[in-house]
Parts: sequence; structure tokens; C-alpha cells
Amino acid sequence: APGLYIVATPIGNLGDLSPRASMILSQADVVAVEDSRVTAGLLRHIGVKRPMQPYHDHNADAVRPGLIARMGSEAVALVSDAGTPLISDPGYKLVRDARAAGHTVVTIPGPCAAIAALTLAGLPTDRFFFLGFLPSKAHARAEAIAEVAAIKATLVLYESGPRLSACLSALAEGLGDREAGVAREITKKFEECVTGTLSTLAARYAEAPPKGEIVIIVGPPGEASPATLEDGEAALVEALTRLP
Ligand code: SAM
Repeated sequence: APGLYIVATPIGNLGDLSPRASMILSQADVVAVEDSRVTAGLLRHIGVKRPMQPYHDHNADAVRPGLIARMGSEAVALVSDAGTPLISDPGYKLVRDARAAGHTVVTIPGPCAAIAALTLAGLPTDRFFFLGFLPSKAHARAEAIAEVAAIKATLVLYESGPRLSACLSALAEGLGDREAGVAREITKKFEECVTGTLSTLAARYAEAPPKGEIVIIVGPPGEASPATLEDGEAALVEALTRLP
């Protein structure tokens, strides 16, 4: 049926492509892709060949109207190189404009590195806040961290290997030395999730920057966070009442 189909694809293990995702991709009139070489590999894996339209940050504004127009009579599928489209990936404006034009929007959910990492780290999952990629420059990064320091929730961030240690140090500095997890190469051969405090993880990865793709999970503020001024004052007042 005509419309827009948001299709999640594997984040490493091709076995994670769902049968429904496979069916939608094989029936799509056109597949909007980040990188046609990456998606060609996926389509080859399921033995189909479909027309592809590159759709990425640099051409999205130019090609979006054409894709929206096609949705009136054709099935347009959107995929990212890996994982769920729109999650630190292009797509939200395509969905917005498809809705505005009255087209059907259907999602085919599946792998997402942020959610997969949350299931590995053993930190609270009842409330979490997704930060995507922090700015790479130290000052902007520190500002972004300060903005979320008071949020009572687990934090989820995407990061690259070379920047991991510096990012963990900046998080320890800005949030206090909370419990955290570094999930790497999820669903791939060298999948691992290393847990510890932010400062111990920063030290560990300073020696050897890890390879591959990474999600950082930071636990919510708790006992491990540094005492605030108010806490100190309250303790002092309480101690004074016990003086002889
Ligand atoms: N839309 C994708 C999703 O649903 O996860 C995320 C796209 S974002 C451009 C790519 C980032 O996701 C990587 O830099 C890394 O932080 C994270 N990532 C993707 N695949 C991963 C994997 N297999 N293991 C760990 N992190 C991964």
C-alpha cells in the first residue's frame, strides 16, 4: 500500500532483521537510504533488488518533496545504515511532512543501539534520557552535561572510541562519579558491556581507546553523587543540635 514505512535494520547481526522488515523492503517501490552501498548489502542479504534514493543530512531538503509526492501512489521505505531511523539519524522531517500531506506512516520497529545498551548495563531503566551524541568540543560538551546534571534518570549517549575516555571524564566531572556502563559492538562478535564508576571507566579507556561502536549508560544521581551544598548545610544543622 502507498505511504511511508520506517524500517529498523540490524546494528551488527543480520539475524536481527525482522521478517516483517524484510517483507516491507522487498515490496517497497523505493528505499530512502543513508548510504546506498550499506543498504545494497542488506538487500543482497535478503535476495532483493529495489530502487534506492539517497536521503541524508546533505541532500534531505532537496529530495524530500519528491519522496513526499511519491508516497501518494507508492510505498516509500526509509532505512538508516544501522538501527532505527530518526534515532540520531535522518528522518523526522520526512515523517513530519508525510503526515502533513496526509500520507499513511507505518513503523517496522527493531534494533536500536540505545535500547539494546540499556538492556545490558544493569542500571535503572524505569526513567531514561537519551542524549544522542554530545558535542565533540570540550566546552560545549561540558555545557551539555551541566544541562542534564539534575535530571533524575539514567542517561544514554552515543560516542566514538577515540573520544570515549575524554567523554567519560567530562561526565564524571559534571555529574559526579556515578555508576555507568560502556556497551560496545552490540550484537557483533566482540560485544561487551563494561560497568563501573565513570572515573574508573575513564581511566580504563584512557590507556587503550576501544574500537568499534559505543553506547554510554550513566546511572541516575544517587548516593554515589557528590554531596551538594544543601546536604552539607543540613548535616551541619543536624550535628549542631546534638552538641552538648
Ligand atoms: N539509529 C541508530 C540506532 O537506532 O541505534 C543509531 C545511529 S547513530 C548515527 C550511530 C551510533 O549508534 C554509533 O556511533 C554508536 O554510538 C551507536 N551504535 C550503533 N550500532 C552499535 C552497536 N552495534 N554497538 C554499540 N553502539 C552502536
